[in-house]
Amino acid sequence: QSHFSVIIVGGGPIGLACALEAQKNNISYLVLEKGCLVNSLYHYPVNMTFFSTSDRLEIGNVPFVSNNAKPTRNESLEYYRRVTQNFNVNIHLFEKVIQVDIAQVTDGRSYFHIQSSKANYTCDHVIIATGFYDIPYLLQVPGEELSKVTHYYSDPHFYAFQDVVVVGAMNSAVDAALETFRKGARVTMVVKGDAIGSRVKYWVKPDIENRIKEGAIKAYFNASLKAIREHEVDIDTPEGPVTLKNDWVIAATGYQPNLDFLEKTGIELSKDEVRCPVLNPDTHETNIPGIYLAGVICGGMNTHRLFIENSREHAVMIFKDIRQKAQHA
Ligand code: FAD
Repeated sequence: QSHFSVIIVGGGPIGLACALEAQKNNISYLVLEKGCLVNSLYHYPVNMTFFSTSDRLEIGNVPFVSNNAKPTRNESLEYYRRVTQNFNVNIHLFEKVIQVDIAQVTDGRSYFHIQSSKANYTCDHVIIATGFYDIPYLLQVPGEELSKVTHYYSDPHFYAFQDVVVVGAMNSAVDAALETFRKGARVTMVVKGDAIGSRVKYWVKPDIENRIKEGAIKAYFNASLKAIREHEVDIDTPEGPVTLKNDWVIAATGYQPNLDFLEKTGIELSKDEVRCPVLNPDTHETNIPGIYLAGVICGGMNTHRLFIENSREHAVMIFKDIRQKAQHA
């Protein structure tokens, strides 16, 4: 089969929520996911704990049972895998959507042509739920291309007894600094501002601040990484330049959504720096009739506004609109 009523781009939690909503409404659909199931979550640090309680990560009204109030990455992978299996979600993994084209416009109604890395499809509606975890903010310093630099920190054991620089001061940076420190790494944080980020999880913030205060973790504030070499890094600090012996750099500088993909599809973005996609807030339909956005991508560059817990409802809004339009067709 190559024609579906709905094609959902992205098999993250919100893409899956849309799939379950399509099933509930008896609407034919296919999810195309460029990586593994819930690819973004899979690439989060292995020991990561969500800040949301498990009930707030639930989709399709399936209970998410976790031993603790806040579930771990592993528990979330188990949960979304079991939901996918249980509902027999129609998903193709490791199949990237390359292009979405409007194939034909008749009576104001379009249908779409989807080109993926493996096949071509047509559909009446497209839901883009591509998240924000694919494009890291680069440091843009010489040496960033070295294999010792990562934008996707995973497992602390790897860094044991090594000289590690962590760039950033938000949740990911703080988790990486504390975890690697506790596995025996010699950790230096390079922080652009003058303090640890105010949005750092409230139960983690005192831990990092106290480790810095006692000197167990070295931190340079109002500082920036200037160059990375095989065995050293250069840091600009308020006290002047510093060169440190270094084995690994963890650049926890955040991620940005692939808004160029939306623009290429013809979706309008706001002209300010947020580049917020233009959406009907009640239906999540874009300026192109039949193309909807769901999940964190709806916030444009403002990736802190929407999470799993407050964007699950997009699925319900979108399918209400699709259903209503079908009734009036
Ligand atoms: P994603 O989960 O990013 O899914 C998008 C999917 O689209 C990905 O699987 C990607 O591979 C796929 N994709 C992208 N482009 C294409 C393409 N061209 N073709 C096919 N597939 C494509 N949120 C919470 O609610 N609670 C929390 O506690 C929480 N903790 C977090 C901790 C960390 C460290 C991070 C980074 C985020 C956290 N978030 C949390 C945010 C949350 O993970 C995201 O908001 C959530 O993943 C958004 O879901 P999504 O389905 O919109 O996007």
